[in-house]
Amino acid sequence: MITRLLTSSDEDIAAAARIIREGGIVGMPTETVYGLAGNALDADSSRKIYAAKGRPSDNPLIVHIADIADISPLVKTVPDNARRLFDTFSPGPLTVILPKTDIIPDATSGGLDTVGIRIPADRTARRLIRAAGVPIAAPSANRSGSPSPTTAAHVMHDMDGRIPAVIDGGGCAVGVESTVVSCSEDGHITILRPGFVSLEDIASVTGEDGVSLAKGVTERISDGERVLSPGMKYRHYAPDADIALVVGGKEAFERFVSAQEADAYAAGFGDESLPRLIPYGLTSEEQAHELFDMLRRIDEIGAKRVYVRCPERSGVGLAVYNRLLRAAGFEVIYA
Ligand code: AMP
Ligand code: MG
Repeated sequence: MITRLLTSSDEDIAAAARIIREGGIVGMPTETVYGLAGNALDADSSRKIYAAKGRPSDNPLIVHIADIADISPLVKTVPDNARRLFDTFSPGPLTVILPKTDIIPDATSGGLDTVGIRIPADRTARRLIRAAGVPIAAPSANRSGSPSPTTAAHVMHDMDGRIPAVIDGGGCAVGVESTVVSCSEDGHITILRPGFVSLEDIASVTGEDGVSLAKGVTERISDGERVLSPGMKYRHYAPDADIALVVGGKEAFERFVSAQEADAYAAGFGDESLPRLIPYGLTSEEQAHELFDMLRRIDEIGAKRVYVRCPERSGVGLAVYNRLLRAAGFEVIYA
């Protein structure tokens, strides 16, 4: 299969929408990361998504809609707190998990009786969803286990020859995947995956006691342990190189890194003075924006071992920390 690179012109969006309506899948830009977009109501489309990604079929797909009004056929109820989160943070990088109706096939929900709903803010994504006229299932457009794609070139790297088309919408504004939350019947919000909408942002809506972090966000889930989100149990975001997170101040980190073998690389979150540095943004937002490109570049330069200085663990930093922790296979060194 030849993979066409499309632009975000009306004509190309119409062509991509046609592919989706006919049961195919296309690479779609969003403000978080690029997605692999297919008709969420069509089991065969979802199966194609899993096959293209090489993703385990019990790891559910997030369903994207353009407007909150389009949610009603897809879910049984929207609890008050979930509604308030949508009102505050959507369109935007937030996914809320709700009890699904039967029109969402098991192939899309990974066999679960719930579905994650997101309303993306990216203009191209919104135009594509409207043009397709169906809710769009879209996981990140990387091969399963690899860092998520934040440019059309990343998607081409992973998907060339596997899907009919990719829409090039430029770089993703946010750079990390959406914040995924579940909402219990009593309205308590649990963050299953941190993202650009932070714990603090959500607490500003629910109150501090109204939101908590699932265990898998900052701790390894042991084999056989029950997980709230299937994605937590899979290896993720990992380049081929061995990555370790190093906790410590700038000086301790520099001392630690200079004591390592000469072929090790260091990524120091803006510590420009470091030798062998992979340049990296300073604020958590900049780190989120650069993160996946950095993880991909680690493979491009053929690094075998990379020490990454541990980021802030609050605000958007928690999302960066969570992705790095998983890229590092939870290997943390205290310098
Ligand atoms: P991705 O599709 O790559 O953005 O990853 C989606 C993440 O959301 C994965 O970690 C999934 O396991 C999680 N997720 C999606 N839908 C659900 C759901 N219904 N219940 C729990 N977790 C979900
Ligand atoms: Mg993913």
